Amino acid sequence: MEQKVTKAKHLSTEQRVKFYQSQYDYYKSFNRGVLIIATVAYLTFFFTDCGIFGRFAHETLLSRLIVIIPLLAFFYLYKQDKSYKVMVTASYLMVHIIIWCTDWATYLLPDREYAGEGMIIMNLIFVCAGFCAPFKYCLIAHCGLIVDILIANIFIQYDNVAMMLMFNIPCVVAVCVMHYTMEKVYLDHYLVTEQLETLVVHDQLTGVYNRNKFKSLSDPVTQELIIPNDIAVTFLIVDLDFFKKVNDQYGHEAGDRVLKAAAQVMSQSVRASDYVIRWGGEEFIVALMGCDLEIGVSIAEKMRVNIENSDNKVCPITASIGVAAYQGGNYHDTIKCADEALYRAKTEGRNRVVVNEG
Ligand code: GH3
Ligand code: MG
Ligand code: MG
Repeated sequence: MEQKVTKAKHLSTEQRVKFYQSQYDYYKSFNRGVLIIATVAYLTFFFTDCGIFGRFAHETLLSRLIVIIPLLAFFYLYKQDKSYKVMVTASYLMVHIIIWCTDWATYLLPDREYAGEGMIIMNLIFVCAGFCAPFKYCLIAHCGLIVDILIANIFIQYDNVAMMLMFNIPCVVAVCVMHYTMEKVYLDHYLVTEQLETLVVHDQLTGVYNRNKFKSLSDPVTQELIIPNDIAVTFLIVDLDFFKKVNDQYGHEAGDRVLKAAAQVMSQSVRASDYVIRWGGEEFIVALMGCDLEIGVSIAEKMRVNIENSDNKVCPITASIGVAAYQGGNYHDTIKCADEALYRAKTEGRNRVVVNEG
């Protein structure tokens, strides 16, 4: 199997979207937790308001409680399992809403002495909310904090806005740099994991799938195939004829080349949604998805002819194919049925397709 090491800078848009989605999926419950904690912390500041007023601070009650609405909206989107683009935007928006509501409450307070320090805490929330977010989103959302401060200053007139900016700008820069570095590391891990996962389910010689692929296609306990909408599935078991002779006559390396070429012909004879799996030695299982027995037989016949007519640059080769329809339940039973048909194909003279009607 050809090894392709994907470098971060060579990622296609589609791969990048997949990466960001996986990053979001990994951190999504953490992100939800961060927003809940940030909202609860924000709500508890109402008691601080009461302390500042020296009584029940009914003036700031609405500006404190209102954050529950966007949090509920966020939960709604979360339940709908929206894409990372929607969810990351929603979570950063939630952080900004907390900032805007803080500004609103601050505007109503008689004493704004600690307003500046409060904003520095928001940097921590941006750090935590950023775990699930692409760098670009972090950059825009976090720089927005500075814009928030400048706009809020028009209404609130902070005691020392220059000082606030001097504290916050380095925080924003540091968080963005940290985020950029973190994303690079996470992407490297992601690419290595993706490559390992690909290696685990592929046969190194022929490049088609190996037996491990069945783990993702079947239930680990019942061994039932996991197939959408109960679609029809037909199994082919393909065995090269007199392959031992190829090894004996041309050598093992030439045998390998014949195997590789035959596997390629098999893959080219089916659709991308089907699975060609090297079951062992010179034996392959082909799972034809969405194919009933009749169509399965015609594909098997086409495959047999393609193998017979292919030029592997070593020697002519043929294959015998056993066919059986998957009837539900343990997929090994279908392989057994196809294997019985294969045995008949061998005994009846090889280079043929035999069906086990079940
Ligand atoms: P039949 O028509 O009955 O299937 O005969 P056959 O010779 O193909 O079957 P048999 O099971 O006797 O031999 C299979 C051979 O496949 C034996 C083994 O050396 C060879 N083989 C298995 N795996 C590989 C491999 O990875 N590379 C090579 N070159 N040969 C392999
Ligand atoms: Mg054989
Ligand atoms: Mg065999």
